[in-house]
Amino acid sequence: MSEILVSGGRVIDATGERVADVRIVDGSVAEVDTGLRPSAGATVLDAEGCIVAPGLVDLQVHLREPGREDSETIETGARAAALGGCTAVVCMPNTEPPLDDAAVVQSVVERARAVDLCDVHPAGCITRGRAGRELAPLGELYDLGVRVFTDDGDCVADALVMRRAFEYAAALPGAVIAQHAEDPALVRGGHMHEGAWSARLGIPGRPAEAESTIVARDLQLAARTGGRYHVLHLSCAASAALVRAAKAEGVGVTAECTPQHLVLTDEACAGFDPSFKMNPPLREQTDVDALRAALLDGTIDAIATDHAPHAPETKDVPFEEAPPGMLGVETALAVVLTTLVEPGILTPAQALAALSWQPARVVGLDAAGHGGPIVAGRPAYLCVIDPAQQWVVEGAHLASRSRNTPWEGWKLTGKVRHTIYRGRPTVRDGVPTR
Ligand SMILES: [Zn+2]
Repeated sequence: MSEILVSGGRVIDATGERVADVRIVDGSVAEVDTGLRPSAGATVLDAEGCIVAPGLVDLQVHLREPGREDSETIETGARAAALGGCTAVVCMPNTEPPLDDAAVVQSVVERARAVDLCDVHPAGCITRGRAGRELAPLGELYDLGVRVFTDDGDCVADALVMRRAFEYAAALPGAVIAQHAEDPALVRGGHMHEGAWSARLGIPGRPAEAESTIVARDLQLAARTGGRYHVLHLSCAASAALVRAAKAEGVGVTAECTPQHLVLTDEACAGFDPSFKMNPPLREQTDVDALRAALLDGTIDAIATDHAPHAPETKDVPFEEAPPGMLGVETALAVVLTTLVEPGILTPAQALAALSWQPARVVGLDAAGHGGPIVAGRPAYLCVIDPAQQWVVEGAHLASRSRNTPWEGWKLTGKVRHTIYRGRPTVRDGVPTR
């Protein structure tokens, strides 16, 4: 028998908040109560002054394996995720080769199991080779446990292909078609949000309508077919309004946005630093405000990072030549606590809902025990957060193999102290155990 006692924390989950110790026995929560005493030989994890929450669930990370192990591997990415408080992530299929085939998906599943730092759920491609033309073998991938299908990195632009994907997914319980919503014709040649800053900097833009027109079309196709739709990294006010209206009409849609889109604007590109380049691009303050409102009213279900590692030799190049994407999985919680919770925009429970139990529900991971609630009998996927710990982000010291963080030098308040995955600490006192 193995026992862990998480001692003295404030438990926050979907059912509410209470001060309690949590006893974990053989991988499951055994008792949640005050004044619990450790059994002989138990591991005691100090949670005094800390929040004890269900492990975080990140719906969008790029782990780059197979193919770009110079940027990230399943192991380094999963370790970064554990340090960020995650017990489950969904990894995107734009690897080399892409995850459009059962054998490749199976190899990622097996590698993740061997790494054993958090649950890694591969998303499968919507189309073969992510080419946007012919559907990937969705049923075969589904049989391997894949529930999220996306060509992320690229948008499925062909409306008929998208309609067929929705029709197929409608027959697979729990399957979700997730879109990187950017019309390729409208963003061609663009490197940042199209607006006053792109005009001033002389950088070709990617207009917000590139996203919202695709979202509008997809919502109509989802409504027609009954297929479930998830908007990846929703970034602009118009898309949020469309999702809000569709939800009100009962369309099966969910949406996520990233910490960077909730905090930064296109002005961040003014220094031509490629760390701030991503697709969809950082937008305007009105969009940031709209995303925050959408998160608060339930239009946006989840905060996901779009953790996109790029090796320094590929990312440290002129802005227009750099690939889009930024690190995020290790800093997301602290960025949210510092920029949204501390100023009172979100309560701790609202932040954790968007980082843990709501994303778990989007992809059905709640059934596997992710996202809590923290009660006896549930699997022990937990993170313990010290909300007062201050730290400074240094890309070179993150667990990721890459360093392209937009938060370099930011002083953040709030850090993961322990992460418990399958009843074992993967992070203890802020340090990875493996
Ligand atoms: Zn994307």
